[in-house]
Amino acid sequence: MSEKVEKYVTCPKCAQQCLSELICSVNTENDPAVRQAIFEDKFFRWKCKKCGFQTKLMHPLLYSDIKNQFMVYYIPKVERRQIVDERLEMEFSDLSYIKKRVVADVNSLKEKIVLLENKMDDMAVELTKNAVSEVVAKSTSRTVHSGYFMDMDKDNNAMTFQYFVGSDRRPYIQSIRLEVYNRSLGIVKKYFSGENKKSGFLNINDVWAKEVLKKYKNLN
Ligand SMILES: [Zn+2]
Repeated sequence: MSEKVEKYVTCPKCAQQCLSELICSVNTENDPAVRQAIFEDKFFRWKCKKCGFQTKLMHPLLYSDIKNQFMVYYIPKVERRQIVDERLEMEFSDLSYIKKRVVADVNSLKEKIVLLENKMDDMAVELTKNAVSEVVAKSTSRTVHSGYFMDMDKDNNAMTFQYFVGSDRRPYIQSIRLEVYNRSLGIVKKYFSGENKKSGFLNINDVWAKEVLKKYKNLN
């Protein structure tokens, strides 16, 4: 079942207040349409009931996929490394095997869903992405702003990422050999397996990758 909240939203066009129903929590097994809407960039659309103006309304969403054993909490622009929600911890205390993540933007929400549905290790993916972003920065001589996992092709031994580079944030595709990911998996297993035992929702992103790589370098 989806959980909804009712909120007054002020329309940016006509400035009138509009009572709007927002989905704040979803279990995708019961409501697969939400997953589809997220990937089609329709989920956060909002329409003013008074004047018909349409815009995006970014609001928190707890996305649960219990079958695939993960939950992703989207909290717009969240910067905290870890979110502990007492109510959720109590409610899901028997679900300690569930991987819990918090993300700050919708691209990261989509990325986590794809990775965790495919039983990939998102920590190893972040470490890999971080290493590859240095290669991209060198080969393009431009600043790399962000990068996202695109796909893994085991038959061709390749993993592909999309980065956004330069001041115009142009998309840049980079493929790598799977060995790079496997090496990252080894690092996570050896040094950071404890991270997943932390309570709450963890923010596993590029900042996390930089922090743990610094730790890892000190360990060697
Ligand atoms: Zn309006």
